[in-house]
Amino acid sequence: MVARPATDAPVRSRPYVVLISFDGFRHDYLDRYRPPAFASVATRGMRATALIPSFPSKTFPNHYTLATGLSPGHHGIAANAFHDPVRRAWYRVGDSIAVRDARWYGGEPIWVTAERNGVRSAAYFWPGSEAAIGGVRPSRFVAYDGTVPNARRVDAVAGWLRLAPPVRPHLVLLYFSDVDDTTHRHGPDAPNTATAVASVDRALQRLLDSIAVSPLRDSVNVVLVSDHGMTGTPATQVIVVSDLLRGAGVDTTGILFGDNGPAMSLWFGGDSARMHRAKAALTTPHAATYLRRDAPARWRLGDNPRMGDLLVVGELGYTLKRNGTDPDPSAGSHGYDPALPDMRGIFLSAGPGVRPGSHVPAIENVQVYAFLAALLRLDQLPAVDGALGVLQSALR
Ligand code: AMP
Ligand code: ZN
Ligand code: ZN
Repeated sequence: MVARPATDAPVRSRPYVVLISFDGFRHDYLDRYRPPAFASVATRGMRATALIPSFPSKTFPNHYTLATGLSPGHHGIAANAFHDPVRRAWYRVGDSIAVRDARWYGGEPIWVTAERNGVRSAAYFWPGSEAAIGGVRPSRFVAYDGTVPNARRVDAVAGWLRLAPPVRPHLVLLYFSDVDDTTHRHGPDAPNTATAVASVDRALQRLLDSIAVSPLRDSVNVVLVSDHGMTGTPATQVIVVSDLLRGAGVDTTGILFGDNGPAMSLWFGGDSARMHRAKAALTTPHAATYLRRDAPARWRLGDNPRMGDLLVVGELGYTLKRNGTDPDPSAGSHGYDPALPDMRGIFLSAGPGVRPGSHVPAIENVQVYAFLAALLRLDQLPAVDGALGVLQSALR
């Protein structure tokens, strides 16, 4: 539970927050590539050593954790693709009907907290922002289209910050996917990573330049995050789940499988005898297999059935495939145990609410909601999984 005292600051002086996500930006790229716009934010403000994602270290669960302060097991966006045995339905990020269906989304995203407090919000792409969660959408939002050039995203956001005060958003969310796209394709250690980092750095600089010449320049806090990191996933390091099951005499008919990748969930439709035989069959080198209730407590699965009856989680660099004929993994991926350093992302912030020159240790991404709420001076916050903790020392 994160309780904050009521503030009596007049709404007129309420600061602005621009939250920017750089998908797949691993923590070590900051020091390895020294992107100048990112560095300028760290210099003017604060930086955490790393941002520890939540399980599974995938895009949708973690963006929605950043927005709500809840683990995926608690907010219900359990993966990029997952089955709900109660609703007997699938959620998939590519399914625009599911993505816009508020019934999938638990917790209260920061834009809903803001709007509930009479504070306008706007999102240029953010998982969850297209659904009317608790009946509330951001005042402005854009349906996801990954082909929109970064400069156009930035210019739209800059335009929102120049709207007349009654309709100007105080909370703006913005998303860039280049680093994730590139490092999936080429692996995190290829020279292409430098190019992708430079490209999102230019987009960030474009936004910072626009803010610097706007009337709001002294009232805008920027918060830079990523959802997870990335690691190399060689095609030689593959575990074929159906082969292991069939090899042990487990009939796979009717078992539901989550997406191929670093972690895979399986659902057994209540057939617990088969689930236990499958667990034994999937006890294999280079992966750990858990019954949902036996998974590590730090993953905060909350016994949510959307997490799967059984979870198979690869050792770093290993990929789980349902069938041997499925495509080879791409050069890089993420989705592993969030405790692994390669899965860690970034957290930086600068602005009038942030103490310059602070460097805090690694924080968990469930803590970001409390930071955003504090910067925006929002009241009546819901109970969440992460408190401000060391981030308190970065606030002015
Ligand atoms: P992954 O790397 O598999 O966890 O997912 C990253 C992908 O999610 C990106 O390449 C985008 O295609 C997709 N994505 C990111 N944000 C959104 C969104 N708001 N709506 C739909 N798809 C999205
Ligand atoms: Zn991602
Ligand atoms: Zn990705």
